Amino acid sequence: MEMKVHPGRRDAEAGKVRSVTVLGSTGSIGCNTLDLIGRAPERFRVEALTGNANVELLITQAKQFRPRLAVIADPTKYARLKEGLAGTGIETAAGAEALVEAAARPAEFVMAGIVGIAGLAPTLTAARRGAIVGLANKECLVCAGNFLTQEVERAGAELLPVDSEHNAIFQCFDFHADKTVERLILTASGGPFRERSLAEMESMTPAQAVAHPNWDMGAKISVDSATMMNKGLELIEAYYLFPIDEPQIEIIVHPQSVVHSLVGYVDGSVLAQMGPPDMRTPISFALAWPNRMATPSERLDLAQIRNLTFEAPDLTRFPALRIARSALRAGGAAPIVLNAANEVAVRHFLNGAIGFLDIARIVESVLDRSNQPVPSRIEDVSEIDLTARRLAGQVVGEIAQRRL
Ligand code: NAD
Ligand code: MG
Repeated sequence: MEMKVHPGRRDAEAGKVRSVTVLGSTGSIGCNTLDLIGRAPERFRVEALTGNANVELLITQAKQFRPRLAVIADPTKYARLKEGLAGTGIETAAGAEALVEAAARPAEFVMAGIVGIAGLAPTLTAARRGAIVGLANKECLVCAGNFLTQEVERAGAELLPVDSEHNAIFQCFDFHADKTVERLILTASGGPFRERSLAEMESMTPAQAVAHPNWDMGAKISVDSATMMNKGLELIEAYYLFPIDEPQIEIIVHPQSVVHSLVGYVDGSVLAQMGPPDMRTPISFALAWPNRMATPSERLDLAQIRNLTFEAPDLTRFPALRIARSALRAGGAAPIVLNAANEVAVRHFLNGAIGFLDIARIVESVLDRSNQPVPSRIEDVSEIDLTARRLAGQVVGEIAQRRL
């Protein structure tokens, strides 16, 4: 079979400037992406930037990177954005439709750096017009894996995983001989509560949950790392990104976050990608693809690290791993329901309404009670999501009531 060549590959090989849109530029992934762009201004031009609540940061970024368009998702912040960018010639817009408009603008590369299912519509838009999509926004694939990968295929887009584990696998996976791949091994740091007992976890606070030992990330993914739901979402993400079955995807705890993931082959070979725990390494891989670019990430000093350790995950203390795997096995609406319930539960944990262990309880309870149809069109995804969110809201209410 002949491989199609993405025009972005040819342009990069010819050394052309790459135009980039950053969806979620004010977040952790977005700021790291702009940091790299700022270090290589001769290679990139910014087409559009989007943020949600932090309008001041969006204004600062727009003034520095001079995109054609700056979008704030939260419409109540629009007046401030417009005022902040008055006289710069930068177009401004607000709301969910404007996010889609930003993704539709003709940037060759789109960084999908929004958190949660809010990023699905703009990410799909970028895929549909054949962009190179750097995918950090894993919730998109969890909720709409089949739809998104079909659109990518149909439009000749390129989907490059930015999530460090999937980026590692992407770098080690032999796509020309995929039948020789026996298994994927996703590494997990184990999060801040890796050594905590269930009894201790019951009383962990949002501040403790977001204090990740290795990575500096947004609040939602930090809580997901603490529950290990993040690894559950990544299991589903891996299933959609790579031609492999669910039982062939393993999870192993590796507290140092040096080995970012591994690919095992039929001959017993196991290829791993290593690097410092700095998202600029996987982000740069996507940004510069198919080339590489220099990053200021700290260099690995293995002699100083000395020990890399691995251990089996504990499904009793981290039930989210078990719940996510069974949602992937169940298929249909289950991954969407899993994600929606988790987004709702994490938000309520962060605002203090529920306890840490309630997150997984809520997700499991919503999955048990939910009886939603298999999505047959992309439009079904948001309906299933909304229904699951309502149900999750009820379950949160019941639990919060009991806590009073
Ligand atoms: P973050 O909270 O730091 O940033 C999220 C971004 O999305 C912000 O720009 C915010 O303005 C925007 N956003 C939030 N809600 C929105 C909405 N309703 N509409 C439009 N925009 C909205 O999160 P992050 O840590 O940068 O993570 C972004 C995504 O990347 C997540 O899906 C996360 O799982 C994934 N990811 C992050 C890391 C990391 O190191 N931070 C690593 C791997 C994967
Ligand atoms: Mg990850």
